[in-house]
Amino acid sequence: MSCYLCRDKPRLYWGTGYFCADCKRLQDAISIYGDRVFEVVEEVLFRTEDKQEHKIKSELKKEIKSKEKQLEDDKQTKL
Ligand SMILES: [Zn+2]
Repeated sequence: MSCYLCRDKPRLYWGTGYFCADCKRLQDAISIYGDRVFEVVEEVLFRTEDKQEHKIKSELKKEIKSKEKQLEDDKQTKL
């Protein structure tokens, strides 16, 4: 029996559905990051390869900036 999502790899029951380990990982990402996962898929994967390279770099930059801000905010709250 194959995974409900990719319909390719063998599935396991995880309590939330029948998925392969890779698709379970995607499900975890969605539950942690929510819509951010769909944005990344749309903006990064559904682009041509040269545009992907550029987009990956700019998304990483955004991600780093947001983490830096989060760390800074955490520091402020502790003080
Ligand atoms: Zn799968």
